[in-house]
Amino acid sequence: MKIEELNLPSEAINLYLQAGIEELYPPQADAVEKGLLQGENLLAAIPTASGKTLLAEMAMLKAIKKGGKALYIVPLRALASEKFRDFKRFESLGIKTAISTGDFDSRDEWLGSNDIIVATSEKTDSLLRNSTPWMKDITAVIVDEVHLLDSANRGPTLEVTLAKLKRLNPEAQVVALSATVGNAMEIAQWLEAKLVLSEWRPTDLHEGIFFGDAINFYEEQKFIERRHKEDTVNLVLDTIIEEGQCLVFDSSRRNCVGFAKKCAPVAGELLDRQKRNELEEVAKEVLENGETKLTETLAYCIKKGVAFHHAGLNSAHRRIVEDAFRNNLVKMICSTPTLAAGLNLPARRVIIRSYKRYDPNAGMQPIPVLDYKQMAGRAGRPHLDPYGEAVVIVKTYEELTDVLERYINASAEDIWSKLGTENALRTHILSTIASGFANCHKEILTFLGSTFFAHQQESWNFEELLEDCLTFLKNEGMLEQDNEIIRATELGKMISSLYIDPLSASKIIRGLEKTTHVTDMTLLQLICSTPDMRLLYLRNRDYEIINDYVMNHTEDFIEVPSPFKQIEYEWFLSEVKTALLLQEWINEKSLEKIVENYQVGEGDIYASSDIAEWLMHATLRIASRINPQLEKECAKLEKRIHYGAGSELMELVEIPNVGRARARKLFKKGYSSRQKLATANEKQLAGIVGPKIAQKILSYLGRETDSNGYVEPETLENKKQQ
Ligand code: ADP
Repeated sequence: MKIEELNLPSEAINLYLQAGIEELYPPQADAVEKGLLQGENLLAAIPTASGKTLLAEMAMLKAIKKGGKALYIVPLRALASEKFRDFKRFESLGIKTAISTGDFDSRDEWLGSNDIIVATSEKTDSLLRNSTPWMKDITAVIVDEVHLLDSANRGPTLEVTLAKLKRLNPEAQVVALSATVGNAMEIAQWLEAKLVLSEWRPTDLHEGIFFGDAINFYEEQKFIERRHKEDTVNLVLDTIIEEGQCLVFDSSRRNCVGFAKKCAPVAGELLDRQKRNELEEVAKEVLENGETKLTETLAYCIKKGVAFHHAGLNSAHRRIVEDAFRNNLVKMICSTPTLAAGLNLPARRVIIRSYKRYDPNAGMQPIPVLDYKQMAGRAGRPHLDPYGEAVVIVKTYEELTDVLERYINASAEDIWSKLGTENALRTHILSTIASGFANCHKEILTFLGSTFFAHQQESWNFEELLEDCLTFLKNEGMLEQDNEIIRATELGKMISSLYIDPLSASKIIRGLEKTTHVTDMTLLQLICSTPDMRLLYLRNRDYEIINDYVMNHTEDFIEVPSPFKQIEYEWFLSEVKTALLLQEWINEKSLEKIVENYQVGEGDIYASSDIAEWLMHATLRIASRINPQLEKECAKLEKRIHYGAGSELMELVEIPNVGRARARKLFKKGYSSRQKLATANEKQLAGIVGPKIAQKILSYLGRETDSNGYVEPETLENKKQQ
């Protein structure tokens, strides 16, 4: 099917033709035949790189042409940015795209003037909870990675959000995109969508197992030259020598870093001078964007044309690594499986160095088939590679036959809703009532009946769970019942719109009611005691240190459980450990030190501080109702968590390009306020923060700087007076 023949705006067709897209891929043609452009609901369960985004784009363009609006739902913030950048190209067609990543309790009304809005499922849920007016105007809903309905963290939010959207906009077209899962038909039926199911790929995928000296494919063996003592390194070198790139997947962050370091010296020998120079530049960028030892390791690896990637890296480093790989400068990335989810980073060869993951209850366990398929599916860059290769490394013959049956000859598993627990339901029942989707028992059950969970369980029974949740929410004063009618109280509405778990709210309320003596630690531990916080793991060696801290600071905590209640006490110590990390962050401990003290990555510090900021904001709002004296304390802490700095630096850190470390340097030199900075001698300022940053600061503060980077403050004053 030719692009030109489609009933799409001609400017859009031209845009595709210019990008070399002339003919639809078979699954895309199938989707069009099934009514994609006539507004039919569709579920496309097709492999990576088979053109799911184009499908989504066609549906969006069509909806917008008819005067509608499209919502593109993604699972991760990083993916939202990627899609946003992608859709920006439609600006030339007069189509405006926006990304909605603002605070959870905002309605983002300004977004309403856009045609395409990209948001995570959590953000979409929060927009619905806050009754965002433009949500009613959505006529096309795209759901990327819908197989994540299976995820314990994200799945329940996704299914409830889709059920609400369906209620709000019954006429809107739903286009869901999925990896190939076992029960795609079941998901399609739930979505009332037609199914496009295919194994078609634009480049062939050869799946093999490395054992002995060779990759064993179905029909052939490919011998790999032994240049190094480790097999995976030889496979990487073989790919690079054949001018390809590879992704290596490993089970832990530490293994990923270790493997990249092992590869670096040998891979580096294959570089020519020009590549080496270009990589030097990339390594410099890495050094400019990080402060820890890992930054140096990453820069070292990148100079040799290899890298590692995991959630512990800061976002700048992740982006640099991804871009350098896309630009074919970095030849190998060793990554944890997070990279396999979503990001568009195909490679000639994918190597699965370890197909087992650590499970705290069961030790090392083989990964699900769906995860294997997601990783393997990254192999083969369309239009660039003749084919892609996915290789699993095994040590024994028994393992080889096991991997063959378990993964290569197997189909992906079915996915299962994770909504059926009190923890998952509690928050969604409150939000369903608070945002007007149901107001009595019967309506709640009808609403729950429209979820994927209910669709999947033949004789679903929410009665008991629902009762437990309603009792909890009523006891906490978040819901009230008047005969048949169940309403959210003002508190309930606020909790729902703040987007926190009602159990978190309950813990915060109890804490704020009880507390008399408040320090930073009191409030930090309070937010860490909520189920919304991601806690640090308590290692054996931490026990004594954290325990000592607790003993010496008992008065800082609202309540210390008895050490005889071992499980409860250890849980409390994890909360304190997490609160201590946050305390070091707001007290300006260097990232390097925090990384060392807590064995985390820079990315984890930012992720924890993001969650903590949001929870402190919620605490502030709750305090305004029940303990107004604490409101100010919470507001101060919220800001300090945002910037990772002390209160006296707030004026400075708010200036772009300043940040916590530079602000402290400036403060120490006497520049303690914006006013002092605005009249600073530029040369002196340059001596503290470097000439470029000095210029940026001054121009932000309304000062002109001369080309040599030097302006007398007096001259400026004179100018102002003229
Ligand atoms: P998926 O989301 O299924 O992993 P993408 O939508 O990212 O895959 O598509 C992979 C690549 O294929 C993109 O670079 C896209 O531009 C290209 N592509 C998609 N459809 C076509 C087509 N019909 N013809 C040529 N290239 C296409």
